[in-house]
Formats: sequence, structure tokens, C-alpha cells
Amino acid sequence: MIKKITFLALFAFALFSISQAQVKVVAHRGYWKAPGSAQNSLTSFAKADSIGAFGSEFDVWMTTDGKLVVNHDRTFKGVNMETSPFSEIRKVRLDNGEQLPTLDEYLKSAASKPNTRIVLEMKSLTDLSREDESALRIVKALKKHNVLDRTDIIAFSINACLAFKKLIPDTKIYYLDGDLSPKKIKSLGLAGIDYSIKALKQHPEWVEESHKLGLEVNVWTVDEEADMNYFIDLGVDYITTDYPEKLQKLIH
Ligand code: MG
Repeated sequence: MIKKITFLALFAFALFSISQAQVKVVAHRGYWKAPGSAQNSLTSFAKADSIGAFGSEFDVWMTTDGKLVVNHDRTFKGVNMETSPFSEIRKVRLDNGEQLPTLDEYLKSAASKPNTRIVLEMKSLTDLSREDESALRIVKALKKHNVLDRTDIIAFSINACLAFKKLIPDTKIYYLDGDLSPKKIKSLGLAGIDYSIKALKQHPEWVEESHKLGLEVNVWTVDEEADMNYFIDLGVDYITTDYPEKLQKLIH
């Protein structure tokens, strides 16, 4: 009898644990709000790592001469990331004084911080063949630094998502643009949806639908406490935020 009760108690606890699976915190453009940091700087990844964030997100452009650089804005401090040569982009300083990093430098640094998941966004390019080339070069870099197994790929371009799927079918790839249903994402072989607050508030049912299909859900960029609580209660798997420590406090 006691054995039976113990078993039932353990079973109930296991069910409770599954239903309460903790949301994972992803630092948006790294933890750039931390002192001494800047968006997409090497420091921002290190700061995300230092607070125990689950993952740290950053953005990758391909320059006109085929080099991969880490930055968010298409035009940053007057320099266009897609149409400028690397030599021009390299002169740009981030707000914390760091040189704008190459993907190579970024991954070298991330490789030395193995506890933080790499969430790599490939920026959409004007020409689809350039997107294919960018995806190929990114995969080469991830393999070179031996970090492919701890990397998730995200992209607004469905062409880019499918290019990655062909190159690295076992890597998790998430679509960002918010216009495709979980069913469609499943049929394309992607790992899940990574949608804006607005898109998911329009389709809150997509969270449960995704889970039923075996997909995962990430939401960006959730900075207000009320929104954090809304998406924790909705049961998303990941929340991407500029304020990872604030979110951590809500979860723990
Ligand atoms: Mg991004």
C-alpha cells in the first residue's frame, strides 16, 4: 500500500514537473544592457554566459566581399553591412569601444564558454543566392569552431531556413517572420517558431499547436514584466529578452 502511494506521489510529481517545464532565457543581441557591454559585442556573449542565461542571440551579415560579421542593423554608424567591403566595416567601433566582430572572432570566444547556447540569426540578404552562400559560410564557421551541436539557427528568410536545413539537417532551425502556422513549419522540417510578441498574441493557440506537433516556441523581444508573465503562463519554451536577469528573477 505504501509502495503504491509512493509510486502515485512520484508519478504526480513527474507530471507536475513536465507541465511546469521551465522557460529558457535567451539574451537578445547578447546581454548588452550589462555595464561595459554593447549589442552583439564579444562582451555581450560573455555577460550572458556570466549570469547563466540559457542562450545568447546575435546577428550575422555577409559583406559584399563574402566575409561574415556580427551586427544587428543593416546600416550601422553610416556603414551598410551588406553592400560594404569588410575593410570598411572593420573600421566601425561598437558603443563599448570594441571593434565590430567577425563571426570567426565571435565563435572563437563563444567556444570558450560552453555553457551558453549559441543562437545565431542569419540576416536576410537582397539576393537569394547570396543567402545560400552566407548559410554555407556560416555552417563552415560553426564546424571549424566545433560548436554546431550547441547552436540554434534563426532567420526571417524562409529561403535561409531551408538552405540551413539542407546543409545541417540535425540542427534546430527556427523561423522568425510570424506568418506561417505551426503545421506549415512542421511540413518544412523546421524545429519551431520564433515569433514576435505581436504575432503570438494574435495566435496564442499556436503555442499548444506547436507542442502537439513536436515543435518548440520562442518569443521575442519580451522586456516588460507583464509580457514575461503572459508568455510564461502561455507555456512557451524560450523567451528572448534584453533583460535576462529580470526574467530569471520571475522564473526562479
Ligand atoms: Mg536578432
